[in-house]
Order: sequence, then structure tokens, then C-alpha cells
Amino acid sequence: MQPRHETLADAVVVGGGPAGLMAAIYLARFRRSVRLIDAGQSRIEKIPRSHNYPGFADGISGAQVRDMLRVQLHNYPVRVLETFVERAERAPDAFRLESQEGPIAGKRLLLATGVTDIPPAMPHVRAALDAGVLRYCPVCDAYEVIGKTVGVYADGRAGVAEAIYLRHFSADIMLFMAQGGPGLAPEERRRLADAGIRWNDAPVEAIRRHGERIELMHAGARTLCDTLYCALGLTVHSQLAQALGASVDETGYVEIDAHHATNVPGLYAAGDVSSGLNQIAVAMGGAAIAASAIHRELGPDWSRRTGA
Ligand SMILES: Cc1cc2nc3c(=O)[nH]c(=O)nc-3n(C[C@H](O)[C@H](O)[C@H](O)COP(=O)(O)OP(=O)(O)OC[C@H]3O[C@@H](n4cnc5c(N)ncnc54)[C@H](O)[C@@H]3O)c2cc1C
Repeated sequence: MQPRHETLADAVVVGGGPAGLMAAIYLARFRRSVRLIDAGQSRIEKIPRSHNYPGFADGISGAQVRDMLRVQLHNYPVRVLETFVERAERAPDAFRLESQEGPIAGKRLLLATGVTDIPPAMPHVRAALDAGVLRYCPVCDAYEVIGKTVGVYADGRAGVAEAIYLRHFSADIMLFMAQGGPGLAPEERRRLADAGIRWNDAPVEAIRRHGERIELMHAGARTLCDTLYCALGLTVHSQLAQALGASVDETGYVEIDAHHATNVPGLYAAGDVSSGLNQIAVAMGGAAIAASAIHRELGPDWSRRTGA
């Protein structure tokens, strides 16, 4: 991969969700030349209203948080490319990336590429998320389901853990099995029973929205819930990190140190791609830490003679 016309930036950030946007703002304010590359599939777009984002007592939508960060970023001379990075390579002096917009090169690389939730097979998933009848993240919004009839939909062990987690918020929890899953082991049944959680062994045949509730069909029966947590897992977007030689854990999360550095010199990761606690506040905090470490590592630049 050879650079064609691209100058070498101090830092390239891949991913324009809260982690990538925050990192780019920090790096620009550290007077670093920055390129931000984003394919536009941030998880934040799917948040109808967050009630744990700091400073917004009445909650705020994910799209509003994204827009505010984008407006803030526009105050600084950061070059933003809306494209997907297909390949990354580490040369002695730089990281070189390939996208449909051409080559991009940076002395340091921060990956903020996030994760994607595996959705249930049902019509109108996005509308169900917007209505709050379908949810992915109990840490984000279990407070909103206190006292409600809550279903958990999973194909294995993760469903047991998620159902037990949710039992703290509601006494009315039921676990549903996806088609083709391994079924519940005796020990898992005992744990569910101890927590007062019901389960249904018949795999779910269909899921659909039913007004302000959600309906699950299984073995000729149907069950209505106020909300359904889908615990089918997620895909971690750590392919670029792995191609560059970064270590990942068994789920695929990029392993980082306290400064968000990976095991590859000059390569950093922040946000959902590097964390099991997939939260906006964590993504932004990690981005601030990573950007500060990158700035320190690049060292002071005394070449500037003016304030410009
Ligand atoms: C339904 C739902 C509700 C949620 N509610 C809350 C909540 O209330 N509170 C909370 O704190 N969190 C909530 N979250 C989680 C929150 O959305 C994430 O923690 C947060 O968006 C993570 O930010 P990120 O920047 O790490 O990743 P993302 O926001 O996912 O952004 C990653 C970006 O990287 C881009 N990308 C990936 N690969 C490439 C590539 N190769 N080239 C170019 N770009 C690439 C993607 O297109 C995407 O735009 C919720 C999530 C969901 C799905």
C-alpha cells in the first residue's frame, strides 16, 4: 500500500461515534493534525432516549448527542471522511489505511470502531427499539422497566445471566429460547428457579410488536411482554486491530492498557470495541484518556512560531 497524495497526519481516528468524535476533539485541541474516518453506523443512532447520559435530567436521544459532538468538532480543523476503512497496515513511520476515498496515513492510530448488536428475527426492529418494546442493554435502561413484564430472548448461557441481572429490576422475568440454542443445563434451571425467573423451553417461532407490547410465539402458544431484552450477543469490530497485530479477548474486544494503548506500538483503542461496559460515558472517557496519551507520546511540537 503506497500513499498517493495524502500527507501524514499526527493522528487518524477510525469511527465517528461518541468515542471517535470525543478523541478527535481532544486531539484537535492539543493542536494535532487529525483525520476522522467514519462509516456512519454508530450504535448511538439507535438510542431513542438515554436517561444515564450525564447532564440531561430529562434524557436525550442518541442522535442529539451525536449532533452536538459533530457541531463541537466543526470548530476545529479536523478532516472528516465518510467512508469505510477496508485495510490497515503498519509501516515503520506510520499507519497506512485504505478506503474508497483513497489512502490515509497517520503517526498514531486510534480505533473507535464499536460493536453491532445481533438483532432478533422480527419485522420492524428499529421501530420496536424506538418504542422501547425491544431493548439490548440492561445497564442502559433497566431502570425504565422496573416492575414491568420483561422477556429475555437468547440462545444460551448469556440469557441466564441477563435474566438474573434483570431480576433486580422486576419480579416478572421470563426467559425465551432462540431456535437452535443448546437449551438449559440443570444448574442453569436451578439458578433461574432460585431467582424466581420463569423460562420456556420451546424455541421461539416468531416475535412481533403488539401495540405497546411485544408478542412471542412458541409451540402454538403466545406470550405478551411489556419489553423484550434481546441477548443474542454482538459483533465486535476489531478486524482492523487484529490485522495490525493487536491482541483481543475471547469475545473479540481489543485489549488495552490503562492509557488505552494496545500491544502494538502507536495503536490505541477506545469505546465499545475495547470495553465490555458498552456505555457512552465510558466511550468518551476512554477517548479522552487515549487522546491525552497520544498527545504525550507524540511529544511537544516547537516548530510553530505563532499562535496559529
Ligand atoms: C438500543 C441502544 C440503546 C443504548 N442506550 C444507551 C444509553 O442509554 N446509555 C449509554 O451510555 N449507552 C447506550 N447504548 C450504548 C452506546 O450506544 C454505545 O456504548 C456507544 O455508541 C459506543 O460508542 P463508540 O464510539 O465506541 O461506538 P459506535 O457509537 O458504535 O461508533 C462506531 C463507529 O465506527 C464506525 N466504523 C466501524 N468500523 C469502521 C471502519 N472499518 N471504517 C470506518 N468506520 C468504521 C461505525 O460505522 C460507527 O459509526 C445503547 C446502545 C443501543 C444499541
